[in-house]
Amino acid sequence: MGTQRVYNFSAGPSMLPLEVLERAGAEITNYQGSGMSVMEMSHRSKVFQKIFDGTKANFIRLFHVPDNYKVLFLQGGASSQFSMVPLNLIGRTGKADYAVTGNFANVAYQEAKKYGEISLAADSGDKNHTYIPQQGQLKLDPQASYFYYCANNTIYGTEWQYVPDTGNVPLVCDMSSNFLSRPVDVSKYGVIFGGAQKNLAPAGLTIAIVREDLAGRELPYTPLMMSYKTMIDKDSMYNTPPCWCIYMLGLVLEWLDDQGGVEGMEKIKHSKAQLLYSVLDDSRLFTCAAEKGSRSDMNVTFRSVSEEMDAKFVKEAAEAGFTNLKGHRSVGGMRASIYNAMPVEGVEKLADFIRAFDKAN
Ligand SMILES: *Cc1c(COP(=O)(O)O)cnc(C)c1O
Repeated sequence: MGTQRVYNFSAGPSMLPLEVLERAGAEITNYQGSGMSVMEMSHRSKVFQKIFDGTKANFIRLFHVPDNYKVLFLQGGASSQFSMVPLNLIGRTGKADYAVTGNFANVAYQEAKKYGEISLAADSGDKNHTYIPQQGQLKLDPQASYFYYCANNTIYGTEWQYVPDTGNVPLVCDMSSNFLSRPVDVSKYGVIFGGAQKNLAPAGLTIAIVREDLAGRELPYTPLMMSYKTMIDKDSMYNTPPCWCIYMLGLVLEWLDDQGGVEGMEKIKHSKAQLLYSVLDDSRLFTCAAEKGSRSDMNVTFRSVSEEMDAKFVKEAAEAGFTNLKGHRSVGGMRASIYNAMPVEGVEKLADFIRAFDKAN
């Protein structure tokens, strides 16, 4: 077994802050004198209810969630929201607009077609999803029940730098891979959701933020467990919630608070990304996949002059303690995922490694 922690650039599940892991470790057999682990306690117990309420309150405070929204702690991954969103929201007009800017947006788009009349509001597939469409390029239907987009495209390394203006049509957004990395005006959205395993907690927790008036109008055959209303009425505890993950989210949020909240995180994550992009732009060997105005601060995608050189880079980087830099199998090249928990030092050291590799090859 290795004795040292590596700089893990995995796209997800990904790094958690070391302080959080150490605290969880210290509390794992006996949580605050309860005589048991959080994994072992009833979700209806007073001790757990306190963890749940505190975590939810901190999430609402840190992400500035307005009063007319409900925060839900669900299971099923972000992928289950691909079904839950249309099931709950499309009933109003039977129609919805989707912007397809990557793999996950496309999966959501294909899934939604089962439930209504879905229009492609934008599709960046013409340039292999290397850019985010401009506001003027969006084909908007004022009759749509909602407009769906994915804020950060994890595989392609692009990120929306603006919030689409859709008039009265509610926005629905998948924020799985940039959740709580920057401030968001939640009041502009109908539903925001994300799997927790990239920026917030271990896999197994899915967070949905739902504008209250949009719930309760689900299609009649919506499964009980897929109804926002069911979960709102029972405060996410219709059944057993992912207790351990909620506890871990609580610890991550305390850590985030210490970083200056989402406002502090925005500065940190942006300077980390800028450092990597500038080193890559200055190199002879490497090119970035995403167009300049669309680059993601979370997933930096790049490639070298050949597949052989890519493989050499990934191998030598791993030997130097920088793991999981291989790009997604569908696009190849490299990807450095630098989520909230990746220390600045990890990115600085990777930047040095890239410079040295560029010189040596
Ligand atoms: C990882 C990811 C998903 C899939 O999440 P699951 O929790 O595995 O279902 C969906 N959307 C985006 C943007 C992602 O990064």
